[in-house]
Amino acid sequence: MGKYRAPKVYKFGKGSRKCQRCGTRDAVIQAYGLYLCRQCFREIAPALGFKKYS
Ligand SMILES: [Zn+2]
Repeated sequence: MGKYRAPKVYKFGKGSRKCQRCGTRDAVIQAYGLYLCRQCFREIAPALGFKKYS
């Protein structure tokens, strides 16, 4: 939408946490007591009962 895209800004403490599942430090989300990167979160979210979002 905007003319200027923010360059890779995450509000998830990028770099400060490690994914508990795969160990990456990239875009790790702290949610529901978990530290998961976005990819792992998407993979296990359905198993946790979350709907997949596209
Ligand atoms: Zn991961």
